[in-house]
Amino acid sequence: MKKKLLSALLILMLFVLSLFPALAQQSTYTKYSKGFFGTFDTWVSLIGYATKSETFEKAFSMAEQRFIQLHKLYDKYNPYEGINNIYTLNKQAAQGPVRVEEDLLNLLIYTKNLQALYPNTLNIAMGAVLDIWHSYREEALATPSRAALPPRSLLEEAAGHTSMDDVTIDEKNSTIYFEDPLLQLDVGAIAKGYATQLVANEMVAYGMPSFIISAGGNVASGDPPQDGRAGWSVGVQDPSGFVLDPLATIASIQVSHMAVVTSGDYQRYYEVDGKKYHHIIDPSTLLPADHVKQVTVITPDSGMADFLSTVLFVLPTQQALEIVETLEDTQACWITMDDQVITSSGWEAFLNN
Ligand code: AMP
Ligand code: MG
Repeated sequence: MKKKLLSALLILMLFVLSLFPALAQQSTYTKYSKGFFGTFDTWVSLIGYATKSETFEKAFSMAEQRFIQLHKLYDKYNPYEGINNIYTLNKQAAQGPVRVEEDLLNLLIYTKNLQALYPNTLNIAMGAVLDIWHSYREEALATPSRAALPPRSLLEEAAGHTSMDDVTIDEKNSTIYFEDPLLQLDVGAIAKGYATQLVANEMVAYGMPSFIISAGGNVASGDPPQDGRAGWSVGVQDPSGFVLDPLATIASIQVSHMAVVTSGDYQRYYEVDGKKYHHIIDPSTLLPADHVKQVTVITPDSGMADFLSTVLFVLPTQQALEIVETLEDTQACWITMDDQVITSSGWEAFLNN
């Protein structure tokens, strides 16, 4: 009698599983996660679903190696043996064309084309201005009593050497040449997101499509998790709570095949006379942009998301909102100076209930 009941149950189970092949397959996947520090100034973590731990381990090691390689390529502060990176370009590209590898050439082409669509927002040729802010910030953080604002004349002089038209990209020969000897590149506003997208593409090509990568405030996701959830949960930073609790969030969203990138005024800053001066500089004022505390962007490509996070941070919020409304598959959420939350029309659909 018992035996009969058991075999009836077994048949029923097999029948149910045959109705839902995804369910049967799902149980064979395990969730793995691992992270590392050392690239792009941030902790990078990878979560993935795989049928074997070796599959995930290999994916993780590929991702780590690739992040290290791309970090070196987009680094403006350090040279590396045998690599022509942003540092090399800033030192040598005004003397003559410098040959660069594909991942750097492509980043520069991609950004040059994109930034032309949004003048006076993001400009990777603004390195000379950003360098001044960087050294004043470093000085203030090391010796707070010496905290000061950069002299206006210094910023304006540097601003005369920030035209992307002076960066000649020779696609055929893979070379970069600066027409202006005082021009400096800084790809900090886009490099991390662009690199994250390249790694995300490799996760798919390698055969681990269900993953999420988080590099600081920069997330790229693939297929949904293999546990039945419709997407990956991503927290949206609470800008006011950041100093006390970097994990505090104002919202949780759910995504798959989407990137989520945040730019915020709390990420890097110093204070002069009790006022905060952060790291995202408005090219039209040469001062830190002061419309919002934070903007978070959801869009399919992580390079685009990083690009937009900076553009939408620099622009007046109404204008930024109008731009987002014209972009396909793109949503954004701003936290204003007085903690109002402004969202684009499709933002709510991403919220976790
Ligand atoms: P993000 O956090 O993506 O908004 O990028 C901020 C970083 O981009 C800064 O640390 C600078 O290196 C650089 N940056 C700041 N302002 C600008 C700007 N207006 N255009 C291009 N890069 C910028
Ligand atoms: Mg950005």
